[in-house]
Amino acid sequence: MPLTVAIVGSGPSAFYAAEALLETGEVAVDLIERLPTPFGLIRGGVAPDHQHTKRVEKSYTRIAQSAGVRFLGNVEVGRDVALDELRAAYDAVVLATGAPLDRALGIKGEDKRGVYGSAAFVGWYNGHPDFAALAPDLNTTAVVVIGNGNVAIDIARVLVKTPAEMTETDLVDYAARAINASPLTDVYMIGRRGPVEAKFTNVELREMGKLADCAPLVDAADLPATVEGVMPDRDRRVRERNLATLREFAAQEPGARRKRVHFRFFLKPVEILGGARVEGIRLENTRTGGKLDLACGAVIPAIGYRSQPIPGAPFDAARALAPNEDGRVAPGLYAVGWIKRGPLGVIGSNKPDGDIVAKRIRAECPPANRPGPAALDKLLIARGVRVVSFADWLKIDAAERATAAPGAPRRKCTRIADMLAAIEP
Ligand code: NAP
Repeated sequence: MPLTVAIVGSGPSAFYAAEALLETGEVAVDLIERLPTPFGLIRGGVAPDHQHTKRVEKSYTRIAQSAGVRFLGNVEVGRDVALDELRAAYDAVVLATGAPLDRALGIKGEDKRGVYGSAAFVGWYNGHPDFAALAPDLNTTAVVVIGNGNVAIDIARVLVKTPAEMTETDLVDYAARAINASPLTDVYMIGRRGPVEAKFTNVELREMGKLADCAPLVDAADLPATVEGVMPDRDRRVRERNLATLREFAAQEPGARRKRVHFRFFLKPVEILGGARVEGIRLENTRTGGKLDLACGAVIPAIGYRSQPIPGAPFDAARALAPNEDGRVAPGLYAVGWIKRGPLGVIGSNKPDGDIVAKRIRAECPPANRPGPAALDKLLIARGVRVVSFADWLKIDAAERATAAPGAPRRKCTRIADMLAAIEP
């Protein structure tokens, strides 16, 4: 008798959980995904010019096509099926729903037109159906990106790359048009702490020094001579490398490049300025307390993501995650990835979560002859839900690849209705 497991979500954490479960013995795993498309942040979050990172989709495809695994897209837990119904039908349920929402800055003026959280903005340029209609107003010469993480750097890079640099990407058409039409010349990356505390990884930071028409600008006075403090060797090495890269940027002549990314540190946002729409941002120097107003037409807080409660599952609103003890949320209910740990870590960080949860499920939820996948199928048919199978997804994938611009890997479908139309016979 197979162990039946429903995994809610189909991003990296979901696939690593499915893979780990496959390794434990006979299983029937259903990946239940709200969108018609799989892969979560690999499709909707990873930057369109980081196609090498997206290659991991190949191994997820192998997992999805393994005996015992099914993908059920276009099925939303809480809308099409209740979590309790899944918990009754399967031996175990795993929440792998990530952190799809933006955290708020919590400052005055945040509700002005022209403030776009990073989840929305990244979702927009990646063609995520939830954000395809965002239509950010980029009719401005200056954009401020708040935060010193990899998401902030992704956003800055996508905004300043030339059309030629974006040819071999899957940046969606409407975003390419808006970015290319924008008079943008200056992107300000604002860190509330110093260059040593910045969270971007060195490969991503170095990329900012290799852009065709954009100069990275750093004030040498912001850079300390050494990395001070007690920390693991690995962290020290990352910080030393970042500092060395920032020193190179500070020493560079900007030349005649048309765009600039300004790395500014020790500045805390205190107010977004303007009338109905953004005209600037007030920053406070965290060392001197002095205030600085920067004129800009858009502010993109890239200050970390937030998980969304799953109807019927425990949720810790303060920490914005499913409270769990090493992956176990409640009897038969588990969590992996960002809904388990919060929005930190790279794709590979999800692998150990999958291993832990698979071992725990095997030990704690012996197969109990529950109706499992058959029960879910029956419910979804009765409710008239158009389930998108993995074979259906491959049709959407093929349609996207077939219509790609020269050099690009695909032309993304950004509307659910178009995705469903692509799979109709
Ligand atoms: P992150 O790495 O946690 O960075 C968030 C940044 O926002 C930090 O600099 C943080 O500063 C700042 N911040 C938080 N609250 C703030 C506030 N109220 N005001 C001003 N600044 C604030 O998060 P992320 O960039 O969203 O990335 C999430 C995870 O995905 C990370 O682990 C990241 O490495 C990973 N990722 C990786 C890649 C890649 O490998 N290429 C690409 C994208 C994302 P403090 O440090 O002071 O808190």
